[in-house]
Amino acid sequence: MHPFAYVEPKTVKEAVAALSKYGDKARPLAGGTDLLVQTRAGRFNLDAVVNLKKIPELMSVKLDANGLEVGAAVPCYRVYEDPKVSAAFPGLIDAASLIGGIQIQSRASMGGNLCNSSPSADATCPMIVHNGVAVIAGPKGTRKVAIEEFCTGPGKNALAAGEFVVTLQFPKPSPTFGAAYERFIPRNEMDIAVVGVASSVTLDAAGKTIKNARIALAAVGPIPIYAVAASEWLKGKPANEASIAQAAAMAKAAARPITDMRGTIEQRKHLVEVLARRTLTKAIERARGK
Ligand SMILES: Cc1cc2nc3c(=O)[nH]c(=O)nc-3n(C[C@H](O)[C@H](O)[C@H](O)COP(=O)(O)OP(=O)(O)OC[C@H]3O[C@@H](n4cnc5c(N)ncnc54)[C@H](O)[C@@H]3O)c2cc1C
Repeated sequence: MHPFAYVEPKTVKEAVAALSKYGDKARPLAGGTDLLVQTRAGRFNLDAVVNLKKIPELMSVKLDANGLEVGAAVPCYRVYEDPKVSAAFPGLIDAASLIGGIQIQSRASMGGNLCNSSPSADATCPMIVHNGVAVIAGPKGTRKVAIEEFCTGPGKNALAAGEFVVTLQFPKPSPTFGAAYERFIPRNEMDIAVVGVASSVTLDAAGKTIKNARIALAAVGPIPIYAVAASEWLKGKPANEASIAQAAAMAKAAARPITDMRGTIEQRKHLVEVLARRTLTKAIERARGK
């Protein structure tokens, strides 16, 4: 492996300076579960690795009246082991608790999952349906990008030179909000999603009508797909099987999969419909407090 400098900034400003200094010859390091594997495999030829885990903002989890703010380098286990976060953000927990196994979850972050920008990333779609926003720092200051606009292609994203993600923000869900994420893999764990679907709903006070919905699809396009038409169509519809079936069919239509070693176009489209139906059903049950 090409020798590289190891930089350990203590502040956001120092991290921006280090990333700007080395340009595309530097990568931020969170858990390293993608970065180290990919660097060893020759994907990057780095002069510097910039460890983000000594920066307090990157490692904090804040839950208050406004919502949840998760540092971009916080490992998954810290998200799902917090009972208050688990109760309010079920879609995030579904993802954080299935990424790799327990060892991977002790290192891997949701920020790293997002910034690796794989179309099959398990955390990205749940972040989309939880209305997540990435807070980005860089040489020109701070800006925010909605998670559904973050990925721009396989392994590519909206980050410009010298920029990195500081935190992930999620608004406080209403008491009638529910979300769920499921993926299809040929094995029980430790596999890459052939298809993943995240869904969220906000119901009316009676729990009968869908006021708001979001559906997002993993591994069926070059980027995680926010299924806008299916999500918008659900607004104002009764929270019943017929609405779920129609929205699942619309989600299937939004999928743009390829055939590869993990699955065919036909299988993946079919799986989108199945998983959209399942996750919408579960999101509604959770919204009703079940
Ligand atoms: C055995 C194994 C099993 C796995 N299973 C799964 C799985 O089931 N589901 C799944 O989705 N993934 C899986 N992965 C992939 C990986 O664990 C996840 O993508 C993980 O969330 C990456 O997080 P990390 O903190 O380790 O990121 P890192 O490896 O540290 O970083 C990933 C990429 O993002 C960049 N980066 C990291 N943080 C930032 C930041 N704050 N700002 C800008 N860029 C940043 C890095 O430079 C790098 O390019 C698995 C990996 C392994 C080795």
